Parts: sequence; structure tokens; C-alpha cells
Amino acid sequence: MKIENNVFLVTGAGSGLGAATADMLVQAGAKVVLADINQEAGAALAAKLGANARFVVTDVSNEASAAAAVDTALKVFGGLHGLVSCAGIAPAKRIVGRDGPHGLDDFARVIQVNLVGTFNLLRLAADAMSKGQPNDDGERGVIINTASVAAYDGQIGQAAYASSKGGVVALTLPAARELARHGIRVMTIAPGIMETPMLLGMPAEVQEALGAAVPFPARLGKPAEYAALVKTIVGNAYLNGEVIRLDGGIRLAP
Ligand code: NAD
Repeated sequence: MKIENNVFLVTGAGSGLGAATADMLVQAGAKVVLADINQEAGAALAAKLGANARFVVTDVSNEASAAAAVDTALKVFGGLHGLVSCAGIAPAKRIVGRDGPHGLDDFARVIQVNLVGTFNLLRLAADAMSKGQPNDDGERGVIINTASVAAYDGQIGQAAYASSKGGVVALTLPAARELARHGIRVMTIAPGIMETPMLLGMPAEVQEALGAAVPFPARLGKPAEYAALVKTIVGNAYLNGEVIRLDGGIRLAP
């Protein structure tokens, strides 16, 4: 699928990986709906990106709010060809003891935003895409979810987060299988340790230690590297139903 002149919806577009993706897509000639719960950040980026960007304040975990974001793509830009779901939260909480106990409300909120929110956008976007015109390849749309390496290797404090991201990994295959018949591809990116506000709140020495844990290159991943992978996935119609780790080979670490 080409990026130029096609319409994309990016959630979590106000910050980090979503912001880098929205930026990349607009620079490559797409029309982009930026969806984020953070009004200030999303509106500021949309204003910077110009007429091909439109911000809609969105809570991905809310049905009506997510539907309004999809409707904006259809009404303002005349269609929807791509969804990149980056909205997410990652509060650290232990199950018992210090910083605990992990309340059910905390756990449910993380699942609600990261997993239910991803499914919410996926189903609404797929419905809109399935009614669109296919391109010469028969392709109607591409959906890219964001999981995390925590889905495979969750750390202390990540019970809810890792569970939610494991759900996003598991969602990939059934969604890709079902939506293939509509000409819609479904892919998931599982990032490692990326240099975004989600991580930059940590002390410098922690960031350094995290970067050094990556075999090569021994540093944090850059949002532009995530956006570059989105570009590759969108452009390559033969990539489907796959979870791609973007982690500098962190699982190779001894
Ligand atoms: P970030 O905190 O910089 O950006 C996340 C964005 O999501 C924010 O703008 C926030 O306002 C928005 N958001 C939060 N809740 C929302 C909701 N209910 N509805 C709509 N928007 C909402 O984080 P990031 O690092 O760019 O993370 C992007 C995605 O990548 C997340 O799903 C995260 O779990 C995942 N991820 C990040 C890393 C990392 O190291 N940064 C690693 C693995 C996975």
C-alpha cells in the first residue's frame, strides 16, 4: 500500500512512537488523523504538521470516542487506509508488598487502554476499511498494533502491562486471518526499550543501563526507527499476520 494520498489514523499520536509515525506519514504525503487523550500535545503536533493532519481528542478505550476518530478520517479525508495503534499506558505496580498491592482497578485500566483500546480501534477501522475501494493489489487497508517485548519477557512491576501486551500479540493472528478476506492486513510491532517520554522519565543512569543491556546497538531505540518499520510494513503487501520485534536483539543478551 502506498502512503502518499492515503488516509491514516494514528493513536497515541501526541507523543513518542505515535508522534514520530504521524510525522513520517505526513512527510511521505499521507493525510493523517492524530488521535490522543492528551489534547494539548496532539493539537500542537497537528498544527505543526499542517493541513494534511487533523487532531481529534480520543480515548481509545471508549467506544464512542474511538468511533468519532474513525469518522473524522472518513468525513474530513474521505476514507481510511491505515491504522497505527500506539496509544498505551505503562504504570509499574508490584503484585504484593512495596508499591502494591496491585488493585483490580489498576489492572483493569491497563487492560482497558492497551488491549481493549487496541481491539476497539482495530474493529472500527476494519469495518470502515472493508467498505472502501481496494487498490490494484486488492488491498483495502493495513492495521499495525503496538505490543512490547514485555509480552514475552515481562519484568517485576509489569503484571498488567505484560498481560495487556500479550493480548495484543495474541490478537494479531485471529484478526489477520479474518480480515485477509477483506483485503486488510494486520501486523504487530513489539518494541524493546525506546527513547520516548514513557522512558525519559526514568533517571539517566537507569536509561543508560537499559541501553547497555541491548547487544547491538547498545542504546535505546529511536522513535524514528519505529516509524521506519511502519513505513516498511505499509509498503510491503507480503507482510501479514506477523509480530515483529524491534528491540536491538535484546533477547540475545546473556
Ligand atoms: P508515550 O507515553 O510517549 O505515548 C503514549 C501516548 O498514548 C501519549 O500521548 C498518551 O497521551 C496516549 N494515550 C494514553 N492513554 C490513551 C488513551 N486512553 N486514549 C488515547 N491516547 C492515549 O509512549 P510511547 O513510548 O510512545 O508508547 C507508544 C506505544 O508503544 C505504547 O503502546 C507502549 O506501550 C508501546 N511500547 C513502548 C516502549 C518504550 O520503550 N517506549 C516499549 C514497548 C512498547
